Amino acid sequence: MGFPVYRPRRLRKNEKLRGLVRETELSVNHLVYPVFVKEMSEEKIAIPSMPGVYQFSPEGLLKEIDEVAGLSIPAILLFGIPEKKDETGSSAVDKNGIIPQAVRAIKKRFGDDILVITDVCMCEYTSHGHCGLVKDGNVDNDETLKLLARSALAHVMAGADIVAPSDMMDGRVRAIREMLDLHGDYNTPVMSYAAKYASCLYNPFRDAAESAPQFGDRKGYQMDPPNEREALREIALDIEEGADIIMVKPALFYLDVLARAREKFDIPLAAYSVSGEYTMIKLAAEKGYLDFKRAVLEGTISIKRAGADIIITYFAKDIGKWAKENSL
Ligand SMILES: [Zn+2]
Repeated sequence: MGFPVYRPRRLRKNEKLRGLVRETELSVNHLVYPVFVKEMSEEKIAIPSMPGVYQFSPEGLLKEIDEVAGLSIPAILLFGIPEKKDETGSSAVDKNGIIPQAVRAIKKRFGDDILVITDVCMCEYTSHGHCGLVKDGNVDNDETLKLLARSALAHVMAGADIVAPSDMMDGRVRAIREMLDLHGDYNTPVMSYAAKYASCLYNPFRDAAESAPQFGDRKGYQMDPPNEREALREIALDIEEGADIIMVKPALFYLDVLARAREKFDIPLAAYSVSGEYTMIKLAAEKGYLDFKRAVLEGTISIKRAGADIIITYFAKDIGKWAKENSL
């Protein structure tokens, strides 16, 4: 059936009609807001490379979550910046470290009103800024697994609802699952950063999390951007190891990977719209080169359209506000 019998413009006549045939919709129910907590005296500190995003003290964090929960955003992804960093990232496994403390405080105040997903990695805790133990200038995969598993256990014991390993070590989902099961915790899901690329788009985040590597780069463990089939292998491996939710990171430059993953796997799929994606839109809008709201909504719906169930985004609060005004 072609023109003139079929005229696609008929269904674009007005907003009601367009709404009626709209294939994809955004909802706050699927958003996760990333937050940074740091042991410090100030309540919050602005992150210059991410206007509108802050590092919070444990007390300041509770106020922020009050706002997040008030916007009906169901979950936060929590990153911790410890007081002290060392070679082995020892504060990452501390039961009274920055994350366990923050999780306990959040759960005490908010209970089930907010889901707390904790990032599990070593880079915020190591003095060299790599995502694992460094031996002879290299990140030692299998030694790192033990630390990641202990770190995840510390988060779960403090009350974390989901743990999310972001380190890209081989075998870490199994190591974490086994550790949790060993301690009788069969019910905390693991959301794995299954296909995490060595992307330029993380740079603003490294200011936020104070986690830039002090030597070399992360290309020895994060994925090579030109590869797509490899992402499917990574995801398959993590599912086999027990991941409950899989993630593709970043989002906007990797929508093809998301779409392929959606086709191939039927477990929940998350996408992390990273700091560089935020900063690009934010700064272009501040300059007046893009309409902020339209850019945020179009970018975010594209991630949904590509197949993501869950979207981790620094725009979650903006989207939450628009949803409240019924103007998504
Ligand atoms: Zn890391």
